[in-house]
Amino acid sequence: MTQTLIPFAYIVSAALFIFSLKWLSHPSTSRRGVVAGEAGMLVAIVATLLLKEVVDYQLILIAFFVGSAVGVPLAYLMPMTAVPQRTALSHAFGALAAALIGTAEYYQHSPSGFTMVALVIEVLLGFLTFTGSMMAFGKLQEILPTRPIVYRNQNLINLSILSLAAMLGVALVIRPDQTWMFPIFAGLSLLFGVLLIVPIGGADMPTVIALLNSYAGLSASMMGFALDNKLLVIAGALDGSSGLILSVIMCKAMNRSFTNVLFGAFGQLQVKAGHVEQRSVRSASAEEAAQILETSRLVIVVPGYGLAVAQAQHKIRELYDLLSRRGVDVRFAIHPVAGRMPGHMNVLLAEADIPYDKLFEMDEINGDFPQADVALVIGANDVTNPGARHDKSSPIYGMPILDVDRARTVMVIKRSMNPGFAGIDNELYYMDKTLMLFGDAKVFVSNIIKELAASGRA
Ligand code: NAP
Repeated sequence: MTQTLIPFAYIVSAALFIFSLKWLSHPSTSRRGVVAGEAGMLVAIVATLLLKEVVDYQLILIAFFVGSAVGVPLAYLMPMTAVPQRTALSHAFGALAAALIGTAEYYQHSPSGFTMVALVIEVLLGFLTFTGSMMAFGKLQEILPTRPIVYRNQNLINLSILSLAAMLGVALVIRPDQTWMFPIFAGLSLLFGVLLIVPIGGADMPTVIALLNSYAGLSASMMGFALDNKLLVIAGALDGSSGLILSVIMCKAMNRSFTNVLFGAFGQLQVKAGHVEQRSVRSASAEEAAQILETSRLVIVVPGYGLAVAQAQHKIRELYDLLSRRGVDVRFAIHPVAGRMPGHMNVLLAEADIPYDKLFEMDEINGDFPQADVALVIGANDVTNPGARHDKSSPIYGMPILDVDRARTVMVIKRSMNPGFAGIDNELYYMDKTLMLFGDAKVFVSNIIKELAASGRA
């Protein structure tokens, strides 16, 4: 009886995964999406544990406790700003699991034919994603140098190693009994993962992580074929395709191609920031900023990575409440690659309960900037740099930006004149209409709130 229910449970689980992805794509349904994904996974695990082939519950229980001992603190201890590296670690573990299961399957069950084809792809992608994701984690956590490491004939060497691994994979499919080839094949896959990431700068790691996500998904899908588990095929395919779609969206938002991300050694140009000549900027106090804000009709807030660093989202909510009560129309402009991961700003603003209908995507809001009295840039830099439109030598040339420079007044809250992620100066700061509000985003916004309250009219 139980055995006949298992395929049914798998269908329920697959449906929950699909709904989860659908719901996760909008802030108002995203919580439901998380719950659906978790429920789908629970149904899948319980159903799999009831399969007749599962014999050793003891080992599974040990793995469960070891995994939880690592995973639970990881989820709680890593701060919001470290989510990209946390995601890299999760992919590394997932991919390693797939590769090790493939390895065990090869040695225990000596598969052949189509199963061996699936297993070879599973192991190749699993191992290279494991080391690649570990490298991405190291770069993002700054344990490893974040700059791209390049050397002569790098692409040729990388391609040769991948080709060699692929040839060994084909040889293993033809002669699975030649077990001596397997460790070399696995070793080359592990090595390729390291070499693939070495020439990519820290700036491109989030995009690379999305790509590695799709490799890990594809590896899991292949594992489904190798183990004859249909749910794994579906879940892996969903994971693989959504990772790929995400990396395509990110590349588009940065106006970069996949080849440029993977082979462009972006981030080497960071030294450029040091050569910028000294130009003067206008700075202003919280009092001056408060005066301009309270007499505005339309204020467009542009959040960026600095908002996450300062954890200023709750203060921004207070500012939003105060200004809205004064009849100011406050809107939020979200750039697709603001912050360090897709949806970063949406998550932060949702945490502070900013109404979803006040959040506008770049294409929706760019036309409103000329009517805005103030564009209030909070901890954002690259996504507002007008140089992206015309400076052909800029590493962000061609990247679509938020048109903040078209607002009547631009206010920028940041701590210094230091550059943002791309390591380049921002010409926005030197415009006559721009006021630099130097300070930590949380502290500065708190000061503006105090000034507004003190003015007695808020
Ligand atoms: P950004 O260009 O990195 O600039 C962030 C700014 O925040 C910095 O200039 C920094 O200036 C300021 N800041 C840092 N801590 C602060 C604090 N406590 N208080 C106030 N300001 C603070 O950020 P962005 O405009 O959001 O652009 C994102 C960048 O990441 C883009 O280049 C994008 O291509 C890249 N990227 C994003 C993704 C993604 O998925 N979102 C993926 C890959 C790459 P100070 O140090 O002077 O304070």
